[in-house]
Amino acid sequence: MRFVSVLGESPPVDFRDALLHGLAPDGGLYIPEHIPKLPRSFQEYQQISDLPSIGFEVTSLFLGEIPPDSLRRIVERALDFRIPLVRLEENLFLLELFHGPTLAFKDVGARFMAGALSHCLATDRHAVTIAVATSGDTGSAVAHGFHNAPGITVYILYPSGKISNLQEQQMTTLGGNVHAVEVEGTFDDCQRMLKESLQDREVLANCSLTTANSINLGRLIPQLVYYVWGLAQWGRLSGGTEGLPTVVVPSGNLGNLTAASYAKFLGAPIGSLIAATNSNDIMSQYLATGTFHPHPSHKTLSNAMDVGNPSNLVRLRALYADDVAHMRKDIEAIRLTDNETLEEIRRTYQRTGYVLDPHTAVGVAAARRFLARTPASSPVIVTATAHPAKFPEVIQQAIQFAVPLPSQLQDALSRPKQSIRISARYGDWKEVLTGKH
Ligand SMILES: *Cc1c(COP(=O)(O)O)cnc(C)c1O
Repeated sequence: MRFVSVLGESPPVDFRDALLHGLAPDGGLYIPEHIPKLPRSFQEYQQISDLPSIGFEVTSLFLGEIPPDSLRRIVERALDFRIPLVRLEENLFLLELFHGPTLAFKDVGARFMAGALSHCLATDRHAVTIAVATSGDTGSAVAHGFHNAPGITVYILYPSGKISNLQEQQMTTLGGNVHAVEVEGTFDDCQRMLKESLQDREVLANCSLTTANSINLGRLIPQLVYYVWGLAQWGRLSGGTEGLPTVVVPSGNLGNLTAASYAKFLGAPIGSLIAATNSNDIMSQYLATGTFHPHPSHKTLSNAMDVGNPSNLVRLRALYADDVAHMRKDIEAIRLTDNETLEEIRRTYQRTGYVLDPHTAVGVAAARRFLARTPASSPVIVTATAHPAKFPEVIQQAIQFAVPLPSQLQDALSRPKQSIRISARYGDWKEVLTGKH
């Protein structure tokens, strides 16, 4: 399989190139040249009860260039936590993607990308430096994903004082090859400094610098796995007799929704897709008008979805050949307010005892709205993107108690913080990268 730029102005590349460079030379995101079909019937997938086996089958459709033994090892290491499908109510299921080390679904992509990159580097004995700018969740997933990966040095740039204590502890306490860089500025400063370094010839001469943000294909492809896996589990639970499920994806940058759409094109039995968003509702606007108007993001309680310029929309548009009418047949967008998010956390807790994180709550509220206007028999699967313990303030506000911290978070809280503190001047960051700080 080869990968092409959405802008169509660069030559096709293999996965290794797409992985190492992130963006194509023409500035476009990479997409698969075509979407293959799953090689087996879905009844057969329902018989497979281990996640890595499905993970290997799905990723090898795209990554045939990686020797099967190596790919299997990468998948086994990346997907070494469970992804259960939980029945919340009669027609409402949650696919819990948050049992990884940082308790959010981004662990899947970050861990797979780290493994794939280490594999590529081992074959040519290259060393790379990975840098990411983060407003919270991405940084910890990338830090954990790449921790102790051979040949890789990691820098996480984050705005000092502007992320939660839990998030900070998750990325500053690993040590080893992971360096947390605490910037006296905003997230935008972090991103600006990172971008400048990615184009700085002096820096690039000194180290092979790349980034692990969510546009990288190495993060997108493994996300297809849990849709095939989740649907197979649903088939086992339900006998597959209830009609095709609708899948609801709490969305921000639209990476997870893109993965779900790819899974539908692969042949996973998905009826339709719902992008559940907070008030940053670019997807609703795009589906309504067929035009894309990015706007500055605003802050909500589901902050990992506060994206005003979702980078993966170009991939979705490419998948539907820019035909918004076709996209509307498969994808709907539902927008929820912060009040509705809090209300949903309360309602679900009162009805079932289950505590939703604010992002998953947006998804469940969207699912209820959909179920209220469709026949009682159509099931809905919501991807549960984070563990509620990551958002104690919101949970407290909604249901007046704190969710116990899972052991992953307790460990992070008990370790000492280590960070490199710098100003928001580019020169400071450059000194870190060139070893002069
Ligand atoms: C990143 C994130 C999202 C949004 O996912 P996208 O792929 O950016 O649309 C939703 N929920 C949580 C918890 C996240 O961390």
